[in-house]
Amino acid sequence: MRHLLSVSDLDAATATSLLDTADRLKQALLGREVHKLPTLRGRTVITLFYEDSTRTRVSFEIAGKWMSADTINVSAKGSSVSKGESLKDTAATLAAAGADCVIIRHPASGAAHRLAAWLGREGGSGGSGPAVVNAGDGTHEHPTQALLDAATLRDRLGSVAGRRIGIVGDITHSRVARSNVMLLATLGAEVRLVAPPTLLPVGVGDWPCRVSHDLDAELPGLDAVMMLRVQAERMRGGFFPSAREYAIGYGLNERRLAMLPEHAVVLHPGPMVRGMEIAPAVADSPRAAVLEQVRNGVHLRMAVLYHLLAGAPEVR
Ligand code: ASP
Repeated sequence: MRHLLSVSDLDAATATSLLDTADRLKQALLGREVHKLPTLRGRTVITLFYEDSTRTRVSFEIAGKWMSADTINVSAKGSSVSKGESLKDTAATLAAAGADCVIIRHPASGAAHRLAAWLGREGGSGGSGPAVVNAGDGTHEHPTQALLDAATLRDRLGSVAGRRIGIVGDITHSRVARSNVMLLATLGAEVRLVAPPTLLPVGVGDWPCRVSHDLDAELPGLDAVMMLRVQAERMRGGFFPSAREYAIGYGLNERRLAMLPEHAVVLHPGPMVRGMEIAPAVADSPRAAVLEQVRNGVHLRMAVLYHLLAGAPEVR
């Protein structure tokens, strides 16, 4: 694996091998007082974030540190980006400074691919350039989120293949939904998108999933339901009448939680807007795996760095 830009780069075997490595890393750290493996000593990992983030950025930083890499955070605010420097120049600077891996979040769809193309041609020592990880590019993709969601589903349900997973909410603006639909299909799950017609993207009919507008009708048949935040920051104009109306139609409340099968798990990539797409009592219920997703995110991102920078899938 040279970069991780899209889940479409992952076949079932590669995705499963990343999930297995994450599991082994989790086991290797279990019960240890000091969370530190020497695997990436001497490697430099840079997070380059042009958009806000809590979970993704922190977990990549922890992942790098737990593997003994030197991790450095660069954000658009507080760097030369705010002085007008282009992404290309910023990236070339990071490569010249010795980055082995650049983890990028950017509001433009396709930014991670552009970065990988530039760095592959021009950056880095030996002409090969740093590895690039897409940590969310506009409304396009968020591959490590989909992988950590799959890890959580495996933990809770025992398997992903053959399971029916509902993804509910603002599909149009969600890179989490795009990456999940593709990865879950690759891993053999059946995906149901549930959203109002205004929050479904053009072309969704070609995605490997089925679409519904009726949450109540879908819930009894799901093994897991993934609730999405309405991405107000990416919206211009009205996509639904009001937050209250949205919650009535598509929010996961206690009544709806009771409609899910008993084994079914509730996922949310965060940040949650309590009272809108998820009721506080649901977010805090043992059925919700939100903090497990965060914990799995660290191990999964360790696995990604390991596969990109250490090469071999053996964990000692
Ligand atoms: N944290 C996720 C993302 O960056 C989901 C969200 O922001 O709602 O796409």
